[in-house]
Amino acid sequence: MHRRDWLMTTGLMGAGIVIGRENASAVGAGGPVMRTEIKRLTLRHRWTTTMSSSDYRDTIYVHLERDGVSGVGEGAPIVRYNESAQSAQAAIESIRELVASSDVWHYEKILADAFARIEGEYAAKAALDIALLDWVGKRLGVPLHRFFGLDSADAPITTFSIGIDTPEMTRKKVLEAASFPVLKIKVGLDTDEQTIDAVRSVTDKPLRVDANEGWKSKEEAVRKINWLESKGVELVEQPLPAAMLEDMLWVKDRVGIPILADEACLSIRDIPRIAPFFDGVNVKVDKAGGLLRAHRMIHLAKTLGLKTMLGCMVSSSVAITAAAHLSPLVDYADLDGNLLISNDPYAGVLVRDGKLVLPAGPGLGLTPA
Ligand code: MG
Repeated sequence: MHRRDWLMTTGLMGAGIVIGRENASAVGAGGPVMRTEIKRLTLRHRWTTTMSSSDYRDTIYVHLERDGVSGVGEGAPIVRYNESAQSAQAAIESIRELVASSDVWHYEKILADAFARIEGEYAAKAALDIALLDWVGKRLGVPLHRFFGLDSADAPITTFSIGIDTPEMTRKKVLEAASFPVLKIKVGLDTDEQTIDAVRSVTDKPLRVDANEGWKSKEEAVRKINWLESKGVELVEQPLPAAMLEDMLWVKDRVGIPILADEACLSIRDIPRIAPFFDGVNVKVDKAGGLLRAHRMIHLAKTLGLKTMLGCMVSSSVAITAAAHLSPLVDYADLDGNLLISNDPYAGVLVRDGKLVLPAGPGLGLTPA
């Protein structure tokens, strides 16, 4: 029986119920209208880690529109992986035809094609993935955490990050972060003891520490981590350069707190390789190339017995809210990148007493700031 005849027979056509409307409207008449833009985000404080120091960050936005529904995504290019906002924008523009001729509901296929055609540029791919899923969530009328089958009540607390600074500024930043029950302190220079002492002079709350590959030998890492343990630090991220994997085993045997990989783990392929050397992994949507791939990384890490953290780059509420929708899955969240800027165009995930509060609106659930 032809579909039209079946509709007539069942009376669905007369009743105005059209099955498969989404496919019908997206196929044939072309795909979504896409727009990309570079967004300059102004930092509240100069942001310094072992890798860089800056007053602003540029991220890539992808906007999709189809059937009167819009989706927005954001990726924060990572300089360490030779990404910039310009290279991210060029990467997305290079697949403009592919996106424009695709059915948004086939988002897995669009992303598979994007990954096959674009080398690197994971922040750009993340922006596209988020825009697609925002659109899909809106069309389905469900927030993304529900799309992934997650309970927003399980969203963890997030740390607030304190970038490397003078002891005086460090104390000021820690006092400004009074509402956060756990802080993440950036270290990795020879001023580490000074930094932690400055933090401890104004607060006794639990601390997590991120060395961003800053310590250069296994001996230095063990010495610093043992000292940090005595200062109430509950975990350390990426103590040694990513390439020093074997040395991590030596370090892990000599310290009592969990050590998480960040720079040592970019994509899902890295997880089985690094699993023996770390206690956990910091998954970032920008590194993974989107929510779908970050979701798979979290599940693989958990399967291999690793602790999981969702981390972020400096970005607006688009990227941070996207990651937050996956946060009910992880042990630790470090999703504060939107709180470090002063010109966020959107409001999305909120933080209440340190806990992430996920928006209930469909898709990302963003509203204009
Ligand atoms: Mg890190």
